[in-house]
Amino acid sequence: MQRYTTAKEVLNQVFGYDTFRGFQEQVVKSVTQGRDALVLMPTGGGKSLCYQIPALLLDGVAIVVSPLIALMQDQVDALEEVGVRAAFLNSTQTMAEADLVRQRLLAGDLDLLYVAPERLMLSSMLIFLGRIKISLFAIDEAHCVSVWGHDFRPEYGELTVLKSMFPSIPRIALTATADEKTRSEIVSRLLNDPQLFIASFDRPNIFYRIVDKRHVREQLLEFIRYEHSGDSGIVYCLARRTTEELAEYLTQCGIEALPYHAGLSPEERARNQSRFLREDGVVIVATIAFGMGIDKPNVRFVAHVDMPKSIESYFQETGRAGRDGEPADAWMAYGLNDVVNQRFLIDASEAEDVHKQLCTQKLDAMLGLAEAPDCRRQRLLTYFGESSQPCGHCDNCLNPPALLDMTVPAQKFVSCIYRIQQASLISFGAQHVIDVLMGNMTDRVAQYSHDQISTWGIGADLSAGEWRVLLRQLIARHMVWVDVQHRGALRLGEKAKALLRGELTIQVRKRVTERRKRQKERSSLDGVLEAFSRRDRALFEELRHWRSEKAKETGKASYMIFKDATLVEIVENKPMTVTQLQEISGIGEKKIQNYGDEVLEIVENHT
Ligand code: ADP
Ligand code: ZN
Repeated sequence: MQRYTTAKEVLNQVFGYDTFRGFQEQVVKSVTQGRDALVLMPTGGGKSLCYQIPALLLDGVAIVVSPLIALMQDQVDALEEVGVRAAFLNSTQTMAEADLVRQRLLAGDLDLLYVAPERLMLSSMLIFLGRIKISLFAIDEAHCVSVWGHDFRPEYGELTVLKSMFPSIPRIALTATADEKTRSEIVSRLLNDPQLFIASFDRPNIFYRIVDKRHVREQLLEFIRYEHSGDSGIVYCLARRTTEELAEYLTQCGIEALPYHAGLSPEERARNQSRFLREDGVVIVATIAFGMGIDKPNVRFVAHVDMPKSIESYFQETGRAGRDGEPADAWMAYGLNDVVNQRFLIDASEAEDVHKQLCTQKLDAMLGLAEAPDCRRQRLLTYFGESSQPCGHCDNCLNPPALLDMTVPAQKFVSCIYRIQQASLISFGAQHVIDVLMGNMTDRVAQYSHDQISTWGIGADLSAGEWRVLLRQLIARHMVWVDVQHRGALRLGEKAKALLRGELTIQVRKRVTERRKRQKERSSLDGVLEAFSRRDRALFEELRHWRSEKAKETGKASYMIFKDATLVEIVENKPMTVTQLQEISGIGEKKIQNYGDEVLEIVENHT
């Protein structure tokens, strides 16, 4: 392919964009000058160009290490769409296909090669790399190298040898999640005196909301129906079975939903993922097995029906919404079971104690976010070490919850657990403790004579639901713990004493029924289309129809052909010549070559 001399040229002519985003330009400069770089940008920030542009400016092939075998084909397709010579090597290929790629490498016929870390580390592969000219190594999802982080992969650990084997080739490590510790681990394992590029983690177009979990299916259905009908979205669940049940439920309710989890056959997984990526308006109901590297730009919502185990996971998963910068929602339903389940998963794991402590800290931070009465975004950003003001664009900013001082009821609850234990020498579950507090005469109360103990009926002023919300907070704050292996028996936690002694206070959000955002927040595309004249709208529809035909013909996702924003610009400017068409954002030389005539013809027929 023709060689380019400046980064700007590549940005304009190959990718069709006018200006760099964030610090892309500085990263490109640093890497092309041969210096290592660490790039931290939130999902959707534009990390790919940080290594794709240097790959086109430098001699030789850029080796991109990525764990996402399933997505390599898409990444290569997208690059070929703009005329970049790219290929991948992974276990899905036949020998002949892999051979062809190796020949192209030897002939210097590739700008980028995507490869999985375990493949790269094969000794035969390393020897082969010694025979070709390499421009740089880009290590995507670099947090996988960190033992401390939340997604360690042993095969990433081995990448440290790149440092000694190819000391003079620049390396760029990229990730969307990394706190201080993970960051320093990435640097020490992969890089040599790197320049650091750390972007703000704020995602201003995402609206964060966490609601009380009651009937989660119905809540989810209502959320999707009223705020996101016809939109693409991801629903995260903890259990494989839940993904299938929920997908079926949504489908019965008229929403196009598909399950995704590691237990499905590879064919079904690939089929569901590809429908989600390519079609508009598909909802995928998935475990966390889904999503790393999913770069579908127009995901309009991410819903959690179960709480994730850490803020890192929550941030990464919700970050898959709204990568195109248009309004998007992060919605989560959170309830008593989430606290109990997540605590149990840690207790029951075989990990060492230090690791369990770490998981507990991370979980506590997540619970703090879920219980928070103040700005969610501020909490998130603080967690990643950024200071900020209340955002005005989250549930708590929009409807600040009233807080109730519940210290006295909390003390009653904890004493009641204690008295019951004293009276019977065994522990009971939440329902029974609440019955005793409320003075409900049940068979079990009678059987154990719990109407005789001093805490009987002292909590009749609250409803069972209110007691449960309080219990959730008591568990979150280590005042009570649930012994899941003994039928959910409640026991006193390590902070119970301090509560009884009056050293700690408890505040609980007043229960409010979830207030819906008033109406579907309209994306700017809706607004633009509305403002179009009837003629313009017809042109837009014709271009969109042409695009989906092209997508079918080429087997590519429609957004890879042209993004919505590019179609809008075409309608607004009605280019008559190739030069005018080239002015439009998202149209580079290859797009002109492939589609220029057809697009110009459609426009001409309309004027
Ligand atoms: P990340 O890997 O950081 O999640 P991507 O590299 O996939 O993000 O970029 C996200 C989206 O932003 C892509 O659709 C990409 O084409 C677009 N993009 C990246 N850089 C620019 C730019 N300078 N101008 C316009 N769009 C850009
Ligand atoms: Zn806020």
